[in-house]
Amino acid sequence: MEAVNFLKIAKTDYESLPNVRGRYSFGIPLASLTWFQVGGPAEVIYKPEDTADLQHFLKNCKKIPYFILGAGSNTLVRDGGYDGVVIKLGRGFSKMIIQNDELIVGAAALDRTVSMFAMQHSFSGLEFLVTIPGSIGGAVAMNAGCYGIEIKDILNWVEIIDDQGKLQRLQPSELNFSYRKAVLPKSCVIVCANFKVKLGDAVAIQQKMQGYLNLREESQPTKGRTGGSTFKNPDNNKAWELIDQAQCRGLTIGGAQISEKHCNFMLNTGGASALELENLGEAVRQKVLDFSGQYLEWEIIRIGIGSVQRTITTIT
Ligand SMILES: Cc1cc2nc3c(=O)[nH]c(=O)nc-3n(C[C@H](O)[C@H](O)[C@H](O)COP(=O)(O)OP(=O)(O)OC[C@H]3O[C@@H](n4cnc5c(N)ncnc54)[C@H](O)[C@@H]3O)c2cc1C
Repeated sequence: MEAVNFLKIAKTDYESLPNVRGRYSFGIPLASLTWFQVGGPAEVIYKPEDTADLQHFLKNCKKIPYFILGAGSNTLVRDGGYDGVVIKLGRGFSKMIIQNDELIVGAAALDRTVSMFAMQHSFSGLEFLVTIPGSIGGAVAMNAGCYGIEIKDILNWVEIIDDQGKLQRLQPSELNFSYRKAVLPKSCVIVCANFKVKLGDAVAIQQKMQGYLNLREESQPTKGRTGGSTFKNPDNNKAWELIDQAQCRGLTIGGAQISEKHCNFMLNTGGASALELENLGEAVRQKVLDFSGQYLEWEIIRIGIGSVQRTITTIT
């Protein structure tokens, strides 16, 4: 077993937390904030009041590690929790504004809500977002996509606050988008994004959205406690096919299971621990490597303290 060590904040270091107008909460379980519904507590959760408050926090938070949590639909929190500050954007970051053929949305707005909002204003281009269960911040950070379209295809610009507290507007060309990845300035927080939209027919837009939702329902366990695709598709291969060929469909460790419906999805069937889920993922990577010689790279972001049965040491 490989122990994963993280910087600990001594309790006295709480005093070094910047004085903010937003809210700090201490020792709150993160399980309820993620789709997997597993994982230990965050030492501190910080909900900024607004952009200026967040700028002040980032400028002055120099001794304590922090992590930005969106809707938690792509994140696995380990059982030992997160030693540091989890930044959770709330209502002050969920505005949606239409300007001509652009839609400006706060990073905390949910993809689904944004897609519906665009449809209600007869704007097309964001139909695919109705099926992705994350927030806009998470969608930009992960270059989320499906059905042949990704965030990079619709983004005009994004606003971030960097680790010095400076607000910056970045163009897509500055984010080096690739498959499920944006290269963002270190430790920055995305606060809002501007998307291209096109005036269309609301009924046709709604039909397209429903079509996507139906496709999802047929092929994925959309109502399960899952993080979506566990692994990225390797070049010229589909992760689910490799997993299937390696006989991992339905594989379980404790309460963690590889979905029978879509074998690149892991499920918490009820009482799974984060450790069981992560060990199951590692077991699948090993089986796929043994069977096909292909390395699977985690798409799911894993944070916090825990120990995992790491079977493959060449990649993480
Ligand atoms: C049922 C299901 C289906 C899914 N289908 C798809 C799919 O079709 N396509 C796809 O791409 N993904 C899919 N996913 C994965 C997931 O929904 C996306 O990756 C989503 O974009 C993550 O958003 P989030 O807000 O939940 O991010 P989180 O899980 O909270 O965070 C993910 C990463 O984004 C970073 N992040 C979040 N917010 C910010 C911010 N404001 N500023 C800076 N960084 C931030 C986090 O630090 C973390 O590194 C699916 C997940 C589930 C559960």
